[in-house]
Amino acid sequence: MAVIRPMIVSNIKRMVIGRLYKRLPLIAGHKLLYSCNLRCKMCPFWRRKDEKLLTLEEEVLMLKNLEKAGVIFMGFEGGEPLLRRDLPQILEESYKMFYTSLVTNGWLLKDKIKEISDFIDYLFVSLDGIGETHDKLRGVSGSFDRAIEGIKKAREMGIRTAISFTITNENLDQVDEVVRLVEKLGVVLSVQVAYDYSTAEKLSPSREKLKGVLERLLEYKRSGKPIIQSQMYFKALLNSWYYNSPWECKPWLTINIDPQGRIVLPCYVLNEYSGDKRVWEVDLIKLWNEYPWHQYSSCNKCGLSCYIEPSLFSWKNYVMVKERILEPMLSYLTSF
Ligand code: SF4
Ligand code: SF4
Repeated sequence: MAVIRPMIVSNIKRMVIGRLYKRLPLIAGHKLLYSCNLRCKMCPFWRRKDEKLLTLEEEVLMLKNLEKAGVIFMGFEGGEPLLRRDLPQILEESYKMFYTSLVTNGWLLKDKIKEISDFIDYLFVSLDGIGETHDKLRGVSGSFDRAIEGIKKAREMGIRTAISFTITNENLDQVDEVVRLVEKLGVVLSVQVAYDYSTAEKLSPSREKLKGVLERLLEYKRSGKPIIQSQMYFKALLNSWYYNSPWECKPWLTINIDPQGRIVLPCYVLNEYSGDKRVWEVDLIKLWNEYPWHQYSSCNKCGLSCYIEPSLFSWKNYVMVKERILEPMLSYLTSF
């Protein structure tokens, strides 16, 4: 039972350490490499040259240090993680310690899914529109069809799968179609708002056009459509960006790590993945409790749910607890 193991053991460990320290990372995101087989317009990563990647032993060392610091959710991304030959071994190690997820562009998914299916709790496949819109944004024709084939295969194998949709000014008119596709494929939707990196094409949607899309997504969520983000997430973006009522950002809840194992501070948006010290070279808990996070609490620059959702979470908010804790747990338990 993949879910019960890390959820219970890691939560108990985290509760014990959490009594001693004010801040601990909860979610970790690790780029396994920058290389990619696609050429997305809004992505700076495939344009970077990979340095020597971490060995399997170094990956494991990193994971152990993250677990000691209280991390529960481990997400692997890239570049394209499926390009790494040792990915199954890395995921297997992670799966022993964490609730483990993987983000892929889906190009290699159909062929590689069998190698990794036993070691992931959640699979995210990026899809930025329907057919040609997706292919144009991804820079390689055929990428939509390949991603769909991979998603279907993952579903056949019973893997919990989400379509990860990044809203840009080139696809915001396709949100309804993407929601319909998600329902048809029997997966869920995860949305992000594109962020303009300094070394990639600027495609973030205009705030004016985005407002209607966020409102519609909130309505979809309220009406029970399969969307991962909480109602609070959409409300927070709308309140901050259009009604001058910011959320408190807590970037310390998410730790990001570059392909060399270096920690990206305070978050990967402000830092654009320029890491400093390697995870295992620092006292992570000490660093987390000394870093001047307060400087960023009123920063509402990005719409990245991996930072915003944990920042918003409160045990006092019944809708949030229902959407983030109870419903996912119930859905896991009934999926076995
Ligand atoms: S698939 Fe992902 S890593 Fe590859 S170019 Fe696109 S956004 Fe970048
Ligand atoms: S809102 Fe600001 S501090 Fe928070 S994650 Fe986004 S860019 Fe970073």
